[in-house]
Amino acid sequence: MIHEILPVGILQCNCSIFGDESSREAIVIDPGDDIEDVLAALRRHSLTVKAIVITHAHIDHIGGAAKLKAATGAPVYMNRKDQELYDHLDVQASWLGTEAPARTEIDTEAREGDSLKLGPDGGATEFHVLHTPGHTQGSISLWIPAENKVIAGDTLFRDSIGRTDLPGGDGRQILRSIRDKLLTLPGDTTVIPGHGPKTTIGREQERNPFLQAL
Ligand SMILES: [Zn+2]
Repeated sequence: MIHEILPVGILQCNCSIFGDESSREAIVIDPGDDIEDVLAALRRHSLTVKAIVITHAHIDHIGGAAKLKAATGAPVYMNRKDQELYDHLDVQASWLGTEAPARTEIDTEAREGDSLKLGPDGGATEFHVLHTPGHTQGSISLWIPAENKVIAGDTLFRDSIGRTDLPGGDGRQILRSIRDKLLTLPGDTTVIPGHGPKTTIGREQERNPFLQAL
């Protein structure tokens, strides 16, 4: 499996591109900005985008979704509970002092228990949707057991957790989501957070100061 992580935009959101070597299909997660760079990486690997998945509707994660969809025709997946945040993309842009990017329709809801498949029938890699609310109400994580990885959005970071002081945030709920949905994954699972360096579930369980009371 091809996996490129591109930090995009002014907040350096980790955009992940997963590509299957045999089918040359790709899933792009959190195309927040710098879509030209995302498209260049896709071209370099001769990949066709099959799905665009949004971990949550903050502008730094979703800002480039309309542009990437226009360029590739791929459907956008997001949890419906973040629709209201996405509807107010202009307000989010004003928080950052930037111009609001174009918006698009969400094509498919990403719900707890759903899974996306990448690769040929019979040998496809599964991306399991985990609903992990708290940073926002529609925050999801994507667990990819065959790759031993979880894409955690802004729910869990190395040594930290997502902020919960923005609209839709809930400090107790994010801890519950981390305890029940993420810390239950195998300890050696690599965590790719929405920003900053990778970590593992085991390391965060042991050392993340926000999780010691769980
Ligand atoms: Zn966020």
